[in-house]
Amino acid sequence: NCLDDCAIAYNVALQTANADGSEMNWTKAALALADFDAEFAVHYQPRVDTLTGFPHAAEALIRWTHPDRGLISPIDFIPAAEADGSIREITNWVLLKTCRNWTTWKHDRNLDLSLSVNISPALFEKGNLVGMVRSALSRTGMDPSRLELEITEGLEMKDGHLVRETLEGLRSLGVKLSIDDFGTGFASMNYLQSLDVDCVKIDRSFVTNAPDNDRDRAILSAVWNLARELGMKTVAEGIENDRHHDLVRTVGIDEMQGYLFAKPLAPETYIGWMEERGHLMAPSPTKILLTS
Ligand code: C2E
Ligand code: MG
Ligand code: MG
Ligand code: MG
Repeated sequence: NCLDDCAIAYNVALQTANADGSEMNWTKAALALADFDAEFAVHYQPRVDTLTGFPHAAEALIRWTHPDRGLISPIDFIPAAEADGSIREITNWVLLKTCRNWTTWKHDRNLDLSLSVNISPALFEKGNLVGMVRSALSRTGMDPSRLELEITEGLEMKDGHLVRETLEGLRSLGVKLSIDDFGTGFASMNYLQSLDVDCVKIDRSFVTNAPDNDRDRAILSAVWNLARELGMKTVAEGIENDRHHDLVRTVGIDEMQGYLFAKPLAPETYIGWMEERGHLMAPSPTKILLTS
């Protein structure tokens, strides 16, 4: 009867909530215990220039291998880190790692990539983001114009003044800014209206079905037009096949990112990927012969 059904539904809901809650608590506790240098890594996914096909940029994506649980997706632990404040420490670690990587690649391989780092919107309101980025740049010597910060749409402009101050501070450091997952938040137009950023990354949910869906295609074109009018670059996420590739090229999107080109790769693998495709010369063996 209804009473029984209601009771069952209630219990199921409670169990689900408990399961979610304890999972979140486990993640927070594990993050507090994590040895960052031993358990975290930054992988890089190429961003390919649509016109030239050259992968002139890459996105830094964190990977966490827990000693007992193995690989844990950022989708599962970033929210816990945002909730308990450890996102600041994690972002600082990713930033430093990425800037160091840039400098190494520049010195050892003369590779002048742009690297983008994901920044949680929460860090705009507290945590001295500007100081953190300034320090990562100066400690590593990375060229600020090669660092891009991807801000996920979802930042509620609670304190417009503070957000604007942070944005201006970042801008004065000379780094680039982009809106990530564009179109998925509740305030996309608000973002465009109030944030003076360089680039829009169109979420892959608008790309996936676009080859067979007029409405999705219309949205891609409209965002491209809007971005162009505002002087912003466009990046399409989730390019998985040739039909996606052809479509975004026809629309005129500036950059592409997706499994068609490469998955996020460990730094050594990334260099190998560049060499295999002829984007990077292997170190000259004569140099080694002469010096040995
Ligand atoms: P995102 O910034 O939108 O990153 C793109 C995500 O899409 C990555 O997932 C990437 O592996 C995945 N992806 C790329 N190409 C394709 C494709 O062709 N098809 C499909 N299905 N997926 C593709 P990942 O690495 O699991 O990261 C998930 C999210 O976690 C990121 O979404 C970002 O919001 C967050 N994240 C990752 N690293 C960091 C970090 O260091 N700091 C912060 N705050 N967030 C991070
Ligand atoms: Mg991103
Ligand atoms: Mg994204
Ligand atoms: Mg996305």
